[in-house]
Amino acid sequence: MSGQVPDSNEKDVNIAVEAAKKAFTSWSVTPAEERFRILNRIAELIDASLDDLALAETNDNGKPLWLSRKVDIPRASANFRFFATGIMHFATESHSMEDKAVNYTLRQPLGIVGCISPWNLPLYLFTWKIAPALAAGNCVIAKPSEVTPVTAFLLSKICQEAGLPPGVLNIVHGTGNITGEAIVKHPGIKAISFTGSTRAGERIAAIAAPKFKKLSLELGGKNPNIIFADCDWENMMRTSIQSSFSNQGEICLCGSRILVEESIYEKFKTEFVERTKALTVADPLEENTRQGAIVSKVHFDKIMRCIDTARQEGGRILCGGHSVRPEGRCANGYFIQPTVIEGLGPECHTNQEEVFGPVVTLQSFRTEDEALHLANATQYGLSATIWTQDISKANRVAAKVESGIIWINCWLLRDLRTPFGGMKSSGVGREGGWEALRFFTEAKNICVQL
Ligand code: NAD
Repeated sequence: MSGQVPDSNEKDVNIAVEAAKKAFTSWSVTPAEERFRILNRIAELIDASLDDLALAETNDNGKPLWLSRKVDIPRASANFRFFATGIMHFATESHSMEDKAVNYTLRQPLGIVGCISPWNLPLYLFTWKIAPALAAGNCVIAKPSEVTPVTAFLLSKICQEAGLPPGVLNIVHGTGNITGEAIVKHPGIKAISFTGSTRAGERIAAIAAPKFKKLSLELGGKNPNIIFADCDWENMMRTSIQSSFSNQGEICLCGSRILVEESIYEKFKTEFVERTKALTVADPLEENTRQGAIVSKVHFDKIMRCIDTARQEGGRILCGGHSVRPEGRCANGYFIQPTVIEGLGPECHTNQEEVFGPVVTLQSFRTEDEALHLANATQYGLSATIWTQDISKANRVAAKVESGIIWINCWLLRDLRTPFGGMKSSGVGREGGWEALRFFTEAKNICVQL
């Protein structure tokens, strides 16, 4: 299946900003009830288009169709519904100075904001940025990944049908270095909300920081999955397979470094490898497929190079390590066997660099301190998972792991009200809940003498 998508340039971004400027005058003062009504309608229309959107997402990205239907598209409508209702409850602070004065904070929309998203969870992450920006009264210039643009295009039609006024949301398609940078550089765009690689995040920060733009950067991860001997074995094992390989390992929150207490290391290894080998790598449209296609040839080549590097570094490939050619219509697709590697130390390339594919490493530890040392031994700090039945140990370790998001005895359990984001090279700022509405508004303090 092939298609074409516009390759927009700076001029297109200028046109989008002009349209947004016109729309901002009325959208910024549109009552919250009306913004709620339109955004909620968008959510309803996304739900009504579930089949079409899920198929488009799978065709574009390669993920299993059941996953698009169960996770990606329902989350896109949930994002709109969540921030539509959120803006109805958004309140600002007041600080009383006894009988002298009262301060109150106005949180006003920033103006025109830029939202740039990646290809791994295309509509899910695109809407995660757009929905709070619109709810807060901003006009948006949004760019989906050039690798997976189709559901963003379909969303534009849904927004029109829902009655979102022209110019409020402007979806611009194109590449990162041309279209993306034109958005980041544009003086009329006040804030950039970006999700993607740490490399692109660095570039965006370098351009935007001297212009004093507000920045939210959600970047890469190399997340530890820390498994203590006293864990709930079955729950840990089932969830670790998901946290390693869901969406072909192309989720920023996947636990790509599995750290296992030495006393259970051999048992873990045997069972984990056995379950990994049982994952069906096949046509994403088939119901029993557990591993779909890698998103692109470029990314496929990158993952295969990472596996070669692991071999060269002395890693032992316990399973996987090769590409797969499924029978039928996907015979020429980009499929990779889920891969488990052991024998590599924390400092090697494979345990330092994000692969963003179906590749995990195993390392063992003896003590809690050693587990923490391994967990924190990368430049990244996005998420971590901790498995133990000892709740004191779990909380102790959680407080010391350098990650913005920690799951204890679970993974990817999401409450949209919680702060979402990473520390260290995994990003700056937090998304979700009030954090997102605060990011997309400018706080202004007004002091009234009594
Ligand atoms: P990417 O950085 O290549 O691209 C992401 C988006 O940014 C795309 O729309 C791209 O066109 C655009 N872009 C690229 N360079 C740009 C530039 N110089 N200026 C402006 N825009 C630019 O990332 P990707 O390959 O699409 O996605 C995978 C990466 O995203 C992984 O590193 C993954 O960890 C990360 N990610 C992070 C989170 C999170 O919440 N922290 C979530 C999902 C993905």
